[in-house]
Amino acid sequence: MKLEGKIALVTGGSRGIGRAVCRLLASEGAFVFVNYSSSEDAARETLEEVKGSGGDGEIVRFNVADEAEVRDAVEKIVKEKGRLDILVNNAGIAIDNLIVRLKGDDFDRVVSVNLKGVFNCSRAVARQMMKQKYGRIINVTSVVGEMGNAGQSVYSASKAGIIGFTKSLAKELASRGVTVNAVSPGFIETDMTASLPEKVREEYLASIPLGRFGEPEDVARAVLFLASDGASYITGEVIRVNGGLYM
Ligand code: NAP
Repeated sequence: MKLEGKIALVTGGSRGIGRAVCRLLASEGAFVFVNYSSSEDAARETLEEVKGSGGDGEIVRFNVADEAEVRDAVEKIVKEKGRLDILVNNAGIAIDNLIVRLKGDDFDRVVSVNLKGVFNCSRAVARQMMKQKYGRIINVTSVVGEMGNAGQSVYSASKAGIIGFTKSLAKELASRGVTVNAVSPGFIETDMTASLPEKVREEYLASIPLGRFGEPEDVARAVLFLASDGASYITGEVIRVNGGLYM
């Protein structure tokens, strides 16, 4: 068990990549707080899977974009468990459109969840992790934050912002025993990519050297590695999990 006794919080744990992360961290011994914002039934299903994998956890509702909700939830977790070892900033949304069709409100919504959400959650756990002299913050960015993609200007900007944030926070918290890293998934089969037109999926597939789309578990394994002792000398790093789509 790589994470025996560790307490983890996974934002957006109700579905997709977050659910796979919750399951895997729990199967390695972590107690997992499964965050969701609106999909309570899905979060409960994740918790069932967490328990089914031999682990344990709780569901916790908050909107990552809401500073007060995040602060209250983290305070409650620390009060209940006495510590918080691992934060996986996974919650994210995409509003994709050509620049001429995007509204200012679309920008605000995407950035407030994807980027400010990472800031809110990291800030809420930072003091406790520094006090413990131990912590692992793992942020989920995206291949398009690194290479760009037509129709995803706002989403890409929010994800590129996460990379700068990750590196800065890594430098800031390193001396306190807290590592901060990111995983950068390529095309992963989840609700987020399920609605893409067949033609777009085929184009993506043709440009993935490993010849398949990723599964949520592919990303979860990279998160587990960064959360484990095996990654204790790694900080400020971005691990790509994209089948070679971008190198
Ligand atoms: P997904 O299936 O759409 O799941 C998104 C998760 O985020 C859900 O659990 C959702 O919970 C949660 N969430 C959304 N807004 C939230 C908020 N304001 N507060 C708290 N939770 C919120 O997406 P996914 O594909 O698993 O993506 C997970 C992460 O990976 C995202 O950051 C995404 O940008 C990134 N990513 C995905 C891909 C891909 O190909 N799928 C590629 C690169 C990066 P509720 O339903 O309860 O709101």
